[in-house]
Amino acid sequence: MTPALGCIADDYTGASDLANTLTRAGLRTVQTIGVPADDLALPEVDAVVVSLKSRSIEAGLAVTRSREADKWLRGRGAAHVLFKICSTFDSTDTGNIGPVMDALREDCGETIVLVTPAFPETGRTVYQGNLFVSSVPLNESPLKDHPLNPMHDSNLVRVLSRQSTTKVGLVDLATVSKGADAVRVRLADLAGGGFGAAIVDAVFDRDLETIGVVAAGHRLSVGASGMGLGLARALVASGKFAPNASTADVGTPVGGPAACLAGSCSQATLQQIRNSERAMPVLHLHPERVVMGKDEAQRALAWARQHLANGPILIASSSRPDEVAALQARHGREAAGHAIEQTMADIAEALVHFGVRRLVVAGGETSGAVVDRLKIPGFLVGPEIAAGVPVLRAVGAADDMLLALKSGNFGGPEFFSDALALMR
Ligand code: ADP
Repeated sequence: MTPALGCIADDYTGASDLANTLTRAGLRTVQTIGVPADDLALPEVDAVVVSLKSRSIEAGLAVTRSREADKWLRGRGAAHVLFKICSTFDSTDTGNIGPVMDALREDCGETIVLVTPAFPETGRTVYQGNLFVSSVPLNESPLKDHPLNPMHDSNLVRVLSRQSTTKVGLVDLATVSKGADAVRVRLADLAGGGFGAAIVDAVFDRDLETIGVVAAGHRLSVGASGMGLGLARALVASGKFAPNASTADVGTPVGGPAACLAGSCSQATLQQIRNSERAMPVLHLHPERVVMGKDEAQRALAWARQHLANGPILIASSSRPDEVAALQARHGREAAGHAIEQTMADIAEALVHFGVRRLVVAGGETSGAVVDRLKIPGFLVGPEIAAGVPVLRAVGAADDMLLALKSGNFGGPEFFSDALALMR
C-alpha cells in the first residue's frame, strides 16, 4: 500500500473531519488513532490521516510525536505530508504549529512550505494573511477567549513568525487568483529571499484548488481540511485515482448483531433517542447508579443479551440538562463524566464479546472512550450517514467491525436508524 497523501492531525476530531473531507473528494482514506505499529496491515488507500493529540501539549513533545508520524507515513511511501491544524490556527507564541512545521520541513528537506487554514465552506477565509472567522477577524471572534489558545492576532504571517525559526512570507489573493504558475513564481521569489514558509490567501474553493495543485508538487504543507480538499482535488485531477470510487463502500458486509450507545446529552441526541424508540428496544441507564458502581452495567448487559438476537438495541445514559446538572452537583463534573464514559466503554467491550460487530456511538468523549477500550488502531472511512459522520470500518483491530461515531449535535432526527441502514 502506498498512500499518495499522508496527513498528521493535531487532534482526533480534526483528523476525522479531514478524513471525511478527503473521502468526499474521492480519496480512499484510513484514519489511524496515534502512530500505528510498524506491522499494521492497511487496505489499499490513497491517503492516511494519523490522529495525534498534540495541539495543546508541550511543543517539544508535539515535535517528537509529529516526527514519528511523519517517519511512519514517509516510510509507507507518502510523497506529500499535510500537517493538519485547526482552521482557527489554534496555537500560542511558543507553538505548536511553528515548531512542528520547522521540524518536519527539516526532515523532508523542503525549501518553502505552503500554509493556510482557510476552509471557506466553514467560514474560514484568509486575506492579506489575515484569518477571518465568518465575517470577523480571528482576534474579534470567540477564539479570542479560547481557554487554551486565545487568539489575539489575526495576521498569520506575524503569528507564525513568532513560532517559527524561519522567515514567513505571504502569497496574496491577487497572486493566487492568477493561478498555479503565478503562485509558483511568488514562492520561488520568497524561497530565494530565505523564506521557509508562506501564508497563502484563500477566500473561495477555487483558491484552495490552485493551492492544492502547487502544494502537491511540494513535500510538506500546513493547513486545515480546506488544504486537504485542495490537495485531494489536485490528486484526483492528476488522474491517478478514480474519483468517488472511495466513497462507494467500506468492503464486504460484516453482519452480526448491532447496537447503539448514547452518552451525549445534546438536544439532537436526546431527540434521536426518543425517535429510535419506534425502531428498536431502548434501555435508559440510571446515571446515579452508573456513577455508584458496576451493577448498572451488569443490568444493561443482561438486558442486551435478551434482545440482541432480535435486532438492533440502544443503551443510553443521556439525560436532560437539569438532570445532568444535578448529577454533576452531587459528584463533580469530571468524576461523573469519567464514570459514565468508562461504563459505556465497559458495555461496548462486553457487547463485542457477545458478538456485536456493528456499533453506533453518540458523543465525542464517549466515542473516544469506546474506541480506546476496543483498541481499534484505525478506520477506513466510508459513506456519510449525515454531514460529518461517516461509516467507519475498523482496520487492524481484533474484530472486523463497522462503527459510526457521532459528536453530540450531529445527525438528523432518525440518526440511529439512518446509521444502521448503511452498516450492513
Ligand atoms: P457530546 O459530543 O454531546 O459533547 P460527549 O460524549 O463528548 O458528548 O460528552 C458527554 C459527557 O457527558 C460525557 O463525559 C458523558 O460521560 C457525560 N454524561 C453522559 N450521560 C450523562 C448524564 N446522564 N449525566 C451527566 N453526565 C453524563
